[in-house]
Amino acid sequence: MVRFLDLEAINAVYAEKIEEALLRVARSGWYLRGKELRSFEEEYARYIGCRHAIGCGNGLDALRLILRAYMEMGVLRGGDEVIIPANTYIASVLAVTDNGLKPVFVEPNEETLQIDDTLIEQAITPRTRVVMIVHLYGRCAYTEHVGELCRKYNLLLVEDNAQAHGARFNSRRTGALGHAAGHSFYPGKNLGALGDAGCVTTNDDELAAVVRALGNYGSEEKYVCKYAGYNSRLDELQAAVLAVKLPHLDEDNMRRASVAECYYKEVRNPLVRLPRYVDPVSNVYHLFPVFCEERDRLRSYLMERGVETLIHYPIAPHQQNCYREYAHLSLPITERMHRTELSLPISPFMTQDEVRVVIEAVNDFR
Ligand SMILES: *Cc1c(COP(=O)(O)O)cnc(C)c1O
Repeated sequence: MVRFLDLEAINAVYAEKIEEALLRVARSGWYLRGKELRSFEEEYARYIGCRHAIGCGNGLDALRLILRAYMEMGVLRGGDEVIIPANTYIASVLAVTDNGLKPVFVEPNEETLQIDDTLIEQAITPRTRVVMIVHLYGRCAYTEHVGELCRKYNLLLVEDNAQAHGARFNSRRTGALGHAAGHSFYPGKNLGALGDAGCVTTNDDELAAVVRALGNYGSEEKYVCKYAGYNSRLDELQAAVLAVKLPHLDEDNMRRASVAECYYKEVRNPLVRLPRYVDPVSNVYHLFPVFCEERDRLRSYLMERGVETLIHYPIAPHQQNCYREYAHLSLPITERMHRTELSLPISPFMTQDEVRVVIEAVNDFR
């Protein structure tokens, strides 16, 4: 059986150092907002190429905190519009609506799978304040054109970097391309904790201070509440684990890329479409999506052949029950992608045999 993602195998590689880190924290008597967090924040900020990294509870919180901080700063107001790719994971949209902001869905390009930057300008209205790009599947969504539009219309550029730790646009990392970025360290992401964790990166000193306060009850000073904040913190155990794994992230991403290279070279089936190839600098292969009109039949066929797959994602945000007010929207490209997408197994530690089993099974599908 080729598992979709073998987290046991991934974390086993670093087991000794992870266990040492967990024990060190357990014995330290200090579990929140301590030196493990500070040191991980510094290292992650340096890795991304940003002045600040602020740990928080998870990736959804990271995005919520960014938008909420802009509200507190008076930069955003309730009802302001946020341009967002229609095919994103639901968390990106929840961060927007949770702050009383309005998501404006823009269709993706079917080849790049990212927000179609040629459709952004026509979606801009006098209420537009933010463009949120989502580096979905590990592929960099930023383009020169997105940057130009944000400058021209004075819009904030927020990145959802939950799936693309380590990806680059030329020499700059995703997470350092806009005004602020939200990162998730959910266990299955490219840099994964042993539970929930996330962080915000930014070069904006004021935003960083407000995000930091908001994640700690809205306090800058203990027991003094400047904002009606949240409790969203990255704990010392998770910070220590992430600090063990971060130095190996680029290596891990290159291993993912070598699995992807095999798929691109050898998957040949007229019923299965691969997205456009982009080099492993701008793609860290969080997932390996393929598209097939008979997706569900392909999925059960692969299962019979011992290949586990997942769908990212079965329901588009505007078709979710929680967003009934957007159900009338017609977003045919997004809807087709959600109907036909299937993610093949990919991870840094898949064996060559496993990769071969996947390729042969996909190629045999009729
Ligand atoms: C995982 C993910 C999130 C949310 O991160 P959590 O840590 O699970 O809250 C947000 N956006 C995208 C695109 C994701 O893949």
